[in-house]
Amino acid sequence: MKKTDLRELSLIGTEAFAADLGLEKYRGRQIFQWAYGKAADSIEAMTELSKEVRGLLSQRAYISKITEVKRQRSTDGTEKFLFALEDGHRIESVLIPEEDRLTLCISTQVGCGMGCTFCLTGKGGLVRNLRSSEIVNQVLSVQGGLPDGRRLTNIVIMGMGEPLANYHHTIKAIEILTHPRGPAIGAQRITLSTSGLAPQIRKLGESRLNINLAISLNASTDEQRNLIMPINRKYSMDKLLQACREYPLRRRRMLSIEYVLLAGLNDTPEDAHQVARLLKGIRCKINLIPFNEFPGSPYKRPSEESVLRFQEILAGHHFSAFIRKSRGADILAACGQLREE
Ligand code: SAH
Ligand code: SF4
Repeated sequence: MKKTDLRELSLIGTEAFAADLGLEKYRGRQIFQWAYGKAADSIEAMTELSKEVRGLLSQRAYISKITEVKRQRSTDGTEKFLFALEDGHRIESVLIPEEDRLTLCISTQVGCGMGCTFCLTGKGGLVRNLRSSEIVNQVLSVQGGLPDGRRLTNIVIMGMGEPLANYHHTIKAIEILTHPRGPAIGAQRITLSTSGLAPQIRKLGESRLNINLAISLNASTDEQRNLIMPINRKYSMDKLLQACREYPLRRRRMLSIEYVLLAGLNDTPEDAHQVARLLKGIRCKINLIPFNEFPGSPYKRPSEESVLRFQEILAGHHFSAFIRKSRGADILAACGQLREE
């Protein structure tokens, strides 16, 4: 019989599994807590359980892991982890230390099927979705390797892949990561970034997970967006922005709008004014991401001057716009530079 991966089970799933083995309900909770909250890497390590229970569990279950195969450190302190999955595919996660934060950027797919023309991850297409265990294991693996006393403070779901195209596993992973008996990361410290799958944005809003949402807008007109993000032909900006308007935001929370600046394509003053018009009435802040070049990339990074001008115009329309630093660009760890190595 194929063994069950305990890292693939929600709390309810773990309780059902324990019941199936003839164990009491509270055992399920204990096992969940060991598998995620205490990040046990084997059933043997679950010392709160008796030898008999561990023996029974070992016959039917195991704890999956992802293997760190490479770790690179950027001159700015950013670290990129290359992980091998059990079937040999590889994914990347990026650890970003800042003064008051320690953020991990995680992947949700091997590759990506959305085909955005400015993104290296999308170049090879979608290989496969990650399972929730593979999403959670990125967090547990990096967290486990931190020096004593250091903890991840924030998670951004902005690595390889389109998280809302792998909706089920991504949501399950978030439910586990935020569970008080699991890693217990606050939902307000998790941000999911999407290229704009409007129906799934609605569904996410209805889920009441209360995580932060970032939208990769990246264009000021449908014509432009059709050119660089094929998803726009399915969900036009109109539909996307309508879903944004309807996304339930808690008090004092804002949507993030990501805008990759591509020299000569979407970075003119007219574009900035048009973006401000589009976003009118949407409670959001805007992150400007000057294009990160990669070998063979078809676009150029705009001049600093045009980036600043873009920011100023948005500010003139009363939008807070931030310029994202390209952390980790020297090791191809910046936005859009991740891929299956
Ligand atoms: N698939 C999701 C999340 C991963 S991409 C999404 O598209 O939102 C994370 C962010 O990197 C997105 O905002 C995307 O627009 C941006 N990005 C992709 N390629 C980039 C590049 N070459 N330079 C700068 N940002 C890029
Ligand atoms: Fe996929 Fe996001 Fe890259 Fe587009 S920008 S190809 S959606 S990872």
